[in-house]
Amino acid sequence: MIRPETAQETAFRAEVRSWFEANLQQHLRNLTFRPAPKESMAWYGALYENGWIAPHWPKSFGGMGASAEEQVILFEESARIGAPDIPTQGLNHIGPLLMKLGTPRQQAFHLPRILSGEGVWCQGYSEPGSGSDLASVQTRGEVRGGEIVINGQKIWTTWGHHANWMYALVRAIPGEKKKNGITFVLLDMNTKGITRRPIRTIAGDDEFCEVFFDDVAVPLSNVVGEVDQGWRVATSLLDEERIRIGTPLLPLRALARLRAVMKHNGLSNDREWQRRLARSEIAVETVTAAYFQCLERFETGNAAGGESSYLKILATEVTQDIVDLVQEAAGPLRAVKVPSAGSDARVDFSEMYLQSRRLSIYGGSNEIQRSILAAQVLGLQGARR
Ligand SMILES: Cc1cc2nc3c(=O)[nH]c(=O)nc-3n(C[C@H](O)[C@H](O)[C@H](O)COP(=O)(O)OP(=O)(O)OC[C@H]3O[C@@H](n4cnc5c(N)ncnc54)[C@H](O)[C@@H]3O)c2cc1C
Repeated sequence: MIRPETAQETAFRAEVRSWFEANLQQHLRNLTFRPAPKESMAWYGALYENGWIAPHWPKSFGGMGASAEEQVILFEESARIGAPDIPTQGLNHIGPLLMKLGTPRQQAFHLPRILSGEGVWCQGYSEPGSGSDLASVQTRGEVRGGEIVINGQKIWTTWGHHANWMYALVRAIPGEKKKNGITFVLLDMNTKGITRRPIRTIAGDDEFCEVFFDDVAVPLSNVVGEVDQGWRVATSLLDEERIRIGTPLLPLRALARLRAVMKHNGLSNDREWQRRLARSEIAVETVTAAYFQCLERFETGNAAGGESSYLKILATEVTQDIVDLVQEAAGPLRAVKVPSAGSDARVDFSEMYLQSRRLSIYGGSNEIQRSILAAQVLGLQGARR
């Protein structure tokens, strides 16, 4: 941290640091992979009990109502101690969306469950033939009486085999590629007719899966917005998703890793590596500044368009650049992969590199984000998602 801090912020940082030290279990610290929800939920529960699980949620919905500065302090202290990833589809994506566009009933049912961790969510957007071109989703959602009956397939569903709820995009008339025929629906993953098949990733874990729907009947009260009018809902959620991917947390974690690997390989006092570390620290501060600016623009209603895309590109590419440095600092050890990373003494060199490849793909690839900027900011013809 190289920003000036108020006395109040310094006191908050001290409180966070000592609480994290006292409450984060050793075996969950400094993991280079995303632990499965069943492993990380103990930490999730501890944050919930302490009132810190949703810093960015307003107090009126049970969140912490934290300022942007307090949020960043939490990210910095999380990275410092090596806190694990927790499931965020509820906290960062569907929760904020329901606050904006959900019915009072949907809010009252789901928001408290997201906070407590009882509701673990996954995202059912992508399909085998529909990723960047999201408006081409073909999973069918046919209204029959008071229900919407779903048939089709989703893919790349992060934690789909651990989640008990999914938000998904379906359409009434298959074969169409129109944005106005899409419905945004909330699905209980224990509904009859849902099959999940895990997919193994390049890093060797199975954090995402394919999900198949065979006559899955969902009450119409689970539609967010109107039937056939879900595109606006879907893209509003993507804005939230990209802002949360764009927090300084990811690059801060990579920075902590760079320091650990430099120490492990005796590079901490090397002038050239100190210079590289300093440049990385400045790059992370740039992400933090962009995050502050983005939040302020959204909160004051001054978002000009493209903010979340810019932030997503910046945070993920700064992270990947630092992870590339981690690999370089690792030298010949860069291919080494141990079963579980943890302390400085037991550094898993390759895991973070493999995990970092996804950053420029998920949440809409960075090429697509650049097309959004080209269209919305520069006024050029481009792809939008
Ligand atoms: C780790 C991870 C987790 C994910 N989790 C989820 C999840 O939970 N739920 C979910 O629904 N999806 C999830 N996804 C899927 C993700 O949203 C898609 O992978 C992404 O949108 C890209 O779609 P695609 O894979 O079909 O690639 P494609 O759309 O086929 O794109 C392939 C390549 O072509 C480029 N490209 C495509 N169209 C254009 C264009 N018009 N202009 C320029 N370049 C273009 C892309 O940038 C990309 O490099 C996840 C992906 C990853 C990697």
